[in-house]
Amino acid sequence: MPSTEKYTVFLDIDNTLYSASTGISAAMGKKIHDYFRSLGLAEAEASALHLQYYSKYGLALRGLILHHAVDPVDFDKKCDGALPLEDLISPNPNLRKLLQDIDRSKANVWALTNAYRPHAERVLRILNLEDQIDGLIFCDYQQPNFACKPDAQYYHEALVKAQVTDPTKCYFVDDNRINVDAARALGWGHVVHFCEAGLVHVEGGKVKEIGSERLVNGQNGVDVIADLEELRQIWPEVFTS
Ligand SMILES: [Mg+2]
Repeated sequence: MPSTEKYTVFLDIDNTLYSASTGISAAMGKKIHDYFRSLGLAEAEASALHLQYYSKYGLALRGLILHHAVDPVDFDKKCDGALPLEDLISPNPNLRKLLQDIDRSKANVWALTNAYRPHAERVLRILNLEDQIDGLIFCDYQQPNFACKPDAQYYHEALVKAQVTDPTKCYFVDDNRINVDAARALGWGHVVHFCEAGLVHVEGGKVKEIGSERLVNGQNGVDVIADLEELRQIWPEVFTS
């Protein structure tokens, strides 16, 4: 019998609900670098460990917790919490309309982020999207060994929280290809890589050109888009118009 479960749309927040052109990833990278330096690490060592932890653990913070006994809440306050987000992002009426046009009789809409709750809620509030989101999956920095994307455990916990039993009914968009591929590998039905090719962003403290991996649209069951408006065409069953 076909499942009658509603669709669940999962939206990454940072560098997905706002453009990489805002420069937030660079500002974030600088705050994290400063945090490494505040632990007494020299410039080069701070940069090397930042990249190493980000690459190995998905979040620099996890390496800081594991190897430097850092308090994640202190880290969050001094990094994400210290960003001048109000100066960098503002509501985008087109994006708000896009979310309003999701047919809520068919789909729930959740945000799915590697940030801690205060940052996630702050971004959604500044973007005027809070009321468009049915629920929030965040990294719980208060929990020892918290999971984050792209850990399989993070996605499993997301399904439990959003009360999804059929992953083929999941729709997911994220700017990080590794996170998208991880969802796909776990059987999430509709996954999209938001890729603003040609712009630059900062990952693990390193400046990187977006799309430099030369990804092919449709490869591995992943659609690649440069504008969230394209979701209307890719996921027509989710939208009212
Ligand atoms: Mg992101």
